[in-house]
Order: sequence, then C-alpha cells, then structure tokens
Amino acid sequence: MLVLNRHPSGRHFLQIPGPSNVPDRVLRAIDHPTIDHRGPEFGELGRAVLAGMQDIFQTSGPVIIYPASGTGAWEAALVNTLSPGDRVLMAETGHFATLWRRLAARLGLEVQFLEGDWRHGVDPARIEAALRADPGIAAVCVVHNETSTGVTSDIPAVRAAIDRAGHGALLMVDTISSLGSIDYRHEEWRVDVSVSGSQKGLMLPPGLSFNAISARALARAEQARLPRAYWDWRDMLAVNEKGYFPYTPATNLLYGLHEAIAMLKAEGLPAVFARHQRHAEATRAAVRAWGLEILCQEANGHSPVLTTVMMPEGYSADRLRAVVLERFDMSLGQGLGKLADKVFRIGHLGHFNDLTLCGTLAGVEMGLSLLGVPHREGGMAAVMQRLARI
Ligand SMILES: *Cc1c(COP(=O)(O)O)cnc(C)c1O
Repeated sequence: MLVLNRHPSGRHFLQIPGPSNVPDRVLRAIDHPTIDHRGPEFGELGRAVLAGMQDIFQTSGPVIIYPASGTGAWEAALVNTLSPGDRVLMAETGHFATLWRRLAARLGLEVQFLEGDWRHGVDPARIEAALRADPGIAAVCVVHNETSTGVTSDIPAVRAAIDRAGHGALLMVDTISSLGSIDYRHEEWRVDVSVSGSQKGLMLPPGLSFNAISARALARAEQARLPRAYWDWRDMLAVNEKGYFPYTPATNLLYGLHEAIAMLKAEGLPAVFARHQRHAEATRAAVRAWGLEILCQEANGHSPVLTTVMMPEGYSADRLRAVVLERFDMSLGQGLGKLADKVFRIGHLGHFNDLTLCGTLAGVEMGLSLLGVPHREGGMAAVMQRLARI
C-alpha cells in the first residue's frame, strides 16, 4: 500500500532490467472486459498471439504460452523433455543460471555446472569438451542474456560446439531478458526449447511465459518421464491449434501481448535490436566517462538490455539506489546473489528512447554526486554527444 499511495508528480522511471516500462498502448489494450475464454472471440485472439509469438521467436514451430512467471517456463522446458536422473549441462553465467540449475536439481536432474566468474558469457569450448567427455548428457541449458551481470552469450557458437562434438543433447536457452530486445532466432540457430517471459523486452506486465519448441524436443516429450501436469505441452498443443487453452488463460495479458507484438512488428525487429544496441553503447560511454567499471569483461558480450556498474570499493550500491529512488523517483536494478550491494544495474530495454536514456543516466550521475561517490564529470555530456551524432 505504501507504494500505491505515493503520488509523486511525473512518471516513475522503472529502469530495472525487467519488469520494464509498459507502454500506454499496452496498458489500454489490457483495460478491456475479460471475455469467455471458450467463446469464438477468444479463439481468434489466441490464434493471433500464438502466431505472433512465432514471429518474435523467429520460428515456424509451436510456441506455448503459460500464465506463469519465467521460472514456470524454465520448469516446463525441463519436465516436458527429461527423465529423473538425466544429466544436464549448465553454465554459471550469473544469478539466473544459478537459479535454473537449482530448479533442475530439485526436479531430480543431475546437473554438471561449468563454473564461471559472473563477468563472462558461456564458453563454447568448455561446452564442447564437457559433451565429448560425456556422451550421455541429455540437455545443454544456457542463459542468452544474463540479467544479473549484463553479459550476453553467443548462442550460435554454443550450437556449433554441440555440433562439433557430434552430440545429441537438446539445446535449451533462457531468452527471458533477450526476446524482443536482442536478435534471437529459435529455428535458424536450431534451439530445441527457448524459454521466455512477458515482463522484459516484450513490454508487458509480469505474468506470461513461453516455450518455443523444436520437432526434436516435441518428440522427446513422448518419452520424458519427469512428472508433469500443469506444464504438459501436449494438453496445450491439443487445443492451441484452434486458439484455446486447456485451462483459464491470462486473457487480459493476452490482449496486451497482441498489442505489444503489433508494436514490435511496426518498428521492425531489426530496428528494435539496433535501438537496444545503440542505447547500450551510449550507456557504456557514460559509465566510462564517469571512470566507473563495467562488470562485463566479455569483449563481444556487452548486453544491449542492461549495463551492470561496479561500485568503487567502500561504497554501497544499495545506498545509491535508495538515494536515486528517494530523490528522483527512479528504480535501478539491485545486485543479485553474490553481487548484492556491490553493483547496480541500469535497464535500457523495451519501451525506451533517447530521452528516457538521458533521464536515466542523469539520475545516476546526480545520485553519484549526492552520495559523494568518486567519479569524473562528463558522463551525461558524453551521452548527449553520442546520441546527437549517431
Ligand atoms: C527475469 C529473469 C528470470 C526470472 O523470471 P521470473 O519471471 O522472475 O520467474 C530468469 N532468467 C532471466 C535471464 C531473467 O532475466
């Protein structure tokens, strides 16, 4: 209630890397009466959003939409394709990879976790070596954009590593914070299960999540023996064809999804991806001008979606976030897991433009000054020069 009762003037800046800002158009689309999810009108909506999500995933194969957070879609990917005791290869890119691993272990899967320093993406050579050492691995699961660190991994390179090893493992990719922001091609990259969520690049409120499925993954679902009920793809697919769901869908969020897909298509996916790259580059220019360190150490892995900034030794990132929220009504992403209080994350994704970026970075720069964090002046100037030029 505390939050709901606050009425500061102007718009709140929700610059965490998801949930992201929801465009007014999407909010207005959601604001319609809920309809009969078994009636004729709904079937049309269902078919339209299922087809639209195929375009967003860049696939001609089936897409499943769950009324669930992204975590549910993680679970769905595993329980539909794997059996108790199956060996799964995962890579420790950061907090989200660590959570997915924990979920897999709880389901009774045996996880081999390639350790990482949370500053790099997935190393395809290590994936290849691990697969060569164990022909029995059932699946490779990686996070495309690690939202806790701001590092993006090269999924085609992971695919190529699996192919070089001549290995039959399924490839599963978490695209929760990349879909609709970073180029992602489920079919062309031969991913078996892509997992995603509504509240990041898709510009929707939290509450929907997705699996895009290859023919191979679908075939595996016939043999998989992990217990599954709510998540069973087969129940979904049986009725999705006509646009319906086996249980009550999140009807109003689907109105929003329909609108968000239309917005992404109107801008054009290549333009959407280029916009995110441009804002990420400008953000890095500001951070470097301030003289602060970016967490990502992967030369080609800087995330187009968020930038994770390390606080100088002895300064609290949470204190900075608190000051920025209090003074400028802006939310910045907190450090997760072992990065707690050491970093803050700037989200520059979704419903976002040049002046949103200027406002965001101005808030950060003023916060640094207010808190007396050692930094150089000129970050904002660097950004404005850059945005005016390119
Ligand atoms: C946000 C996020 C998740 C978690 O999704 P929930 O909707 O919170 O369950 C998982 N993976 C990545 C990469 C994310 O960004």
